[in-house]
Amino acid sequence: MKINNNKKVTFLSFDIYEEAPIVAVHSTRLGGVSKGRFSEMNLGFSRGDNPNDVLKNYHLFSEAIGVEVSKMVLSDQWHHNQILQVTSEHFGMGIFKERTYGDVDGLITNETNLPLVTFYADCVPIYFYDPINKVIGMTHAGWRGTATAIVKDMIKKMMSVYNCEVKNIKIAIGPAICKSCYEVDQQVIDAMTFDFSDLYYDHYPEKDRYHIDLKGLNKAIAISCGILQDHIEVSEYCTKCHPELFFSHRRHGNDRGTQIGVMMLKEDSK
Ligand SMILES: [Zn+2]
Repeated sequence: MKINNNKKVTFLSFDIYEEAPIVAVHSTRLGGVSKGRFSEMNLGFSRGDNPNDVLKNYHLFSEAIGVEVSKMVLSDQWHHNQILQVTSEHFGMGIFKERTYGDVDGLITNETNLPLVTFYADCVPIYFYDPINKVIGMTHAGWRGTATAIVKDMIKKMMSVYNCEVKNIKIAIGPAICKSCYEVDQQVIDAMTFDFSDLYYDHYPEKDRYHIDLKGLNKAIAISCGILQDHIEVSEYCTKCHPELFFSHRRHGNDRGTQIGVMMLKEDSK
């Protein structure tokens, strides 16, 4: 990943998409107008922050990354596996207009100039791009989305709806909680029924708790679906280890702001 700074806004981008005619970025806390526990770049409307500050942050952030705020389409995340095919009909939904959809953890489109937006504060952001068929997708994967393999659902959707071939798809896994910061109980481990699940967690019998690597597990799921090893980038950033850059649910609890991931096909990508 690379740290970028434009118009006083700090955001992250991926090396794997460096040359691609797309926007694929992740926000940090730096560069917005929110105050106190929401400072500075809170992009969540439902956290108790002043809505005018959040809206201002959306304007600042979209300007810094070169997308039109009025066209952004926001997910509605409930830790399930539904993926919405987004079109220009959805412009502005979740910011300027009521959503016509609900319970959507993944977004997908092949339209240009249509910025997809998903939300994070420790969960795993996963970006998908097919440079041949010109399709982008984003999903939010917490432990539930990981356990039910939303990555696989996204790949299937790219193939069935847009005729993508798995060998062409490039995946980026963004900043999320790391294994040493993510302590979970038996319920989470029991939900991970992949052949390779046990490679991604450690058991601490003295406290009967586990530590699990959600980024690594999602990468393994992608590979098991046929994504090429060298078509996957995994961010080294942990959202809990870096409070100077990120809001973290595990660190800050409910008293926190929210990061976003944004993805868009540029006009010249067609
Ligand atoms: Zn960490």
